[in-house]
Amino acid sequence: MNYGKNIERHMPKCLECGDQIRYGRTDKKFCCDECKNRHYNNLAKGSRAFRRKVLSMLSGNYDVLNEILRSGASSVDLMDAVAMGFAPGVMTSFRKSGKHDEFGCFDIRYIMTRTRIYSISKIQNVYLPLHSGTKKE
Ligand SMILES: [Zn+2]
Repeated sequence: MNYGKNIERHMPKCLECGDQIRYGRTDKKFCCDECKNRHYNNLAKGSRAFRRKVLSMLSGNYDVLNEILRSGASSVDLMDAVAMGFAPGVMTSFRKSGKHDEFGCFDIRYIMTRTRIYSISKIQNVYLPLHSGTKKE
């Protein structure tokens, strides 16, 4: 095959291995099925790893908040919480409560400012409808 330089420059490259795709439709993204499979497997792996990381951060936050509650306190300096392993950027819920930002970490609620976490409390009587959507008449 003898492509001119001009054509060569516009040849699509395989998203996985970077090789030029020399045949097939011009909108092809992969040079072969193996590259295509590897690409999507890696994407899925990345997505799973990301979910695992967020879940582990949430779990860590829960431990920190729970420890504060068990010590009898309901507030803490944000820096102290961070030193205990608290990650301010992950939460399971958020809502504006008046002028406060109320966050949730599973069944623990707290208000967080730039410097403090306070009003830490457990939501009482958490009811988890395990069969929601399958109610039978
Ligand atoms: Zn390839």
